[in-house]
Amino acid sequence: MFDKLKSISLGNWILIGMILGLVVGLILNFYVDNTFIKKIILMDNVFYLGGNLFIKLMKMLVVPLVFFSIVVGVASISDIKTIGSIGGTTILIYLITTAVAVTIALFIGMTIQPGVGLNMGAVQTSNVTINQTMTDTILNMVPDNPFSSLATGDMLPVIIFAVLIGIILAKLRQETKIINKIFTEGNTIMMEMTNIVMKFAPIGVFCLMARTFGGLGFEGMLPLAKYVICVLIGLAIQAFIVYPSIMIAFTRLNPIRFFKRFISVMFFAFSSSTSNATIPLNLNKLEEMGVSREVSSFTIPLGATINMDGTAIMQGVAVMFAAQAYGIDLGTSALITVIFTAVMASIGTAGVPSVGLVTLTMVFNSVGLPVNAIGIIFGIDHILDMFRTAVNITGDAICTIIVSFRNNALDKDIFNKKKEPKKHKHIM
Ligand code: ASP
Repeated sequence: MFDKLKSISLGNWILIGMILGLVVGLILNFYVDNTFIKKIILMDNVFYLGGNLFIKLMKMLVVPLVFFSIVVGVASISDIKTIGSIGGTTILIYLITTAVAVTIALFIGMTIQPGVGLNMGAVQTSNVTINQTMTDTILNMVPDNPFSSLATGDMLPVIIFAVLIGIILAKLRQETKIINKIFTEGNTIMMEMTNIVMKFAPIGVFCLMARTFGGLGFEGMLPLAKYVICVLIGLAIQAFIVYPSIMIAFTRLNPIRFFKRFISVMFFAFSSSTSNATIPLNLNKLEEMGVSREVSSFTIPLGATINMDGTAIMQGVAVMFAAQAYGIDLGTSALITVIFTAVMASIGTAGVPSVGLVTLTMVFNSVGLPVNAIGIIFGIDHILDMFRTAVNITGDAICTIIVSFRNNALDKDIFNKKKEPKKHKHIM
């Protein structure tokens, strides 16, 4: 029995936590008349404590996780010089496709309005004021004092500072070996800490769901379902409209041919929820399609680290969901901040399961949205993580095809199956 419980994966535990929390919440809402037990003991103490402890643990991770991840990610782009213009073009395409992804997500969120009807103000109170102008946003991106930004968790200046450190580390490679290693190890520590915190996710999610649905009852279900649908629509648009369009525009290659062969890699990313683990398969498959390893061995690992279009879509929809649920009106400058921060969050998101949710707190913070809203979407995130990871790695592959095509590093005959690839057989 114990062995059986042990064999359940964390993702499934989170799902179990979510379902139990939902059921307990609904039962409390409908059948328990005793306000003392329901409200005072459970909702305002036990569930409140369990849920908020978990949220606090997640918040604790954000600043160091994003900081180290960005420094290490940017510093590893040292090959830009050796690889010439490919590096610049690749990064540009990665950033632009991510910005497009968030924009699509915000648009879908505005149209379908998943958070409307989920009156979170009634369950949790927040004191949010958003009155930054665009010029303020731009000015505030540069830290007055990077250490105070780190201390207060002011993410945009922290990101700018981290990018600068990364660039300098990449430039001074030989002279900064030790500090480079320290940052790399710092990154490893934060990834491990994330793994540990995630172990508490099932309990945290249970409490958050029970508290929310204890307060809202069945009313809360529809918005959550709408949220999932919005994210899936966004992912589908990115994968099957945006990617094929840019592929045709830049290469005139047939995207159907691409997807037919690439689908197995997407399935692997889907079932593992990690871009990092998909790197070898992605490389092999692209080679089978005629892409030179010289390009892909640079662009694919880089993409798995900094290019997360699927994650950005989830974050864009989540922002709209939370804003609507709390009745907060996000103005144009707040939306631009979201696009910018989500692109940065995509760079700061490691290619492993669930990190997109941790960096989502930073996107929420950038426009003053209550981080607690993340608790509601946490439970179903495991499933969305699978879909978005498949999109994340597809974005890396499409960009690699475009970049290699433009640099004569793609054999069209192999892509069009008129010629066999030179390499040995691959597993998938
Ligand atoms: N699981 C995603 C990836 O590996 C990251 C995330 O969005 O959590 O690409």
